[in-house]
Amino acid sequence: MSPVLDPAATTPPVVHLEGVHKRFGALEVLRGIDLSVAAGTVTVVLGTSGSGKSTLLRTINHLEKVDAGLVEVNGDLIGYRRTGRHLRELHEREVLRQRSRIGFVFQHFNLFPHLTVLENVVEAPVSAQKRRRAEVEVEARALLARVGLHDKAGEYPRRLSGGQQQRVAIARALALRPSLVLFDEPTSALDPELVGEVLDVIRDLAATGTTMVVVTHEIGFAREVADRVLFLHDGVVLEEGTPSEVFDRPRHDRTRAFLAKVL
Ligand code: ADP
Ligand code: MG
Repeated sequence: MSPVLDPAATTPPVVHLEGVHKRFGALEVLRGIDLSVAAGTVTVVLGTSGSGKSTLLRTINHLEKVDAGLVEVNGDLIGYRRTGRHLRELHEREVLRQRSRIGFVFQHFNLFPHLTVLENVVEAPVSAQKRRRAEVEVEARALLARVGLHDKAGEYPRRLSGGQQQRVAIARALALRPSLVLFDEPTSALDPELVGEVLDVIRDLAATGTTMVVVTHEIGFAREVADRVLFLHDGVVLEEGTPSEVFDRPRHDRTRAFLAKVL
C-alpha cells in the first residue's frame, strides 16, 4: 500500500505523551514519559504497585495536571508545560468536553449506588454530553446486552456480583461513545472466578477495534490482546514492545524480576 494511503501513517495517535513529568510534593512519580497509542490498538501497562500507573491514566484523562511535558488526546492539547512555565491552561469547559470522550473503568467499579444499572449507564451521556434520554436509553440497553446484562437494567448495583458491577461500569464507559477507554486494574478487586467474564468483555472490545490503555497484571490476557506492552519503573517507561518481546525476551533485570512475580 502506498504510504500516503496507509491509514496508520496518516491517522494521528489517539494518545500522545512527550516528556511528561508529575510530582506529588517531594515524590516525582512520572519522570519523563513518552507514549503513543495508535487508533484501534490495545496498550497494556505493567509496573509494581506505586510505580505511577494510575497517575499515568489520570494524566491522560485530565484528572492530574502535568508539571512538564506534552499530553495530547485525539490531537487536542490537554497539558503542556515547560520548565515551570504553564503555556496553556485549559478552560474547565474544554476539560469536561475532552474528558467526556474518554471512558474510564476503575478497579472498584465506582457505580452510583442509588441509581439502577440502566440509570448508571444513561447518566453521563445525558448530563455531560447533553444527549436525549430516550435515545441514550435505547443505546444503554444494547450495551447492557453486549456485556451480558440485558436482564439487570432495573437492578441496583449492590444486588450484583463484582464481575457484573464491573461489566456495568464498562457499559457505562462505552455509553460515552468514547474514542479511548482507560482501564485501571479492572479485575484486581474481583474474586478469581469472576475475572474471566470481565476479561472476555474487554477482549470483545479489542476485537472490534476499541482503542484502549489497560493497566493489568493478567499476563495471559495481555499476551493475547495487547498490541504494545509497557513496563513502568521509577517514573519512566523502562521497557516497551510487543507482548512476545516483553514477556519472552525482556531486556531489563527489573522487568524479569517483575514478571517472575506476576507470572
Ligand atoms: P500505581 O497505580 O502504579 O500503584 P499510583 O500512580 O497510584 O501508582 O501512585 C504512584 C505514587 O504516587 C505512589 O507512591 C502514591 O502514593 C503517590 N500518589 C498518587 N497519587 C497521589 C496524590 N494525589 N497525592 C500524593 N501522592 C500520590
Ligand atoms: Mg494504581
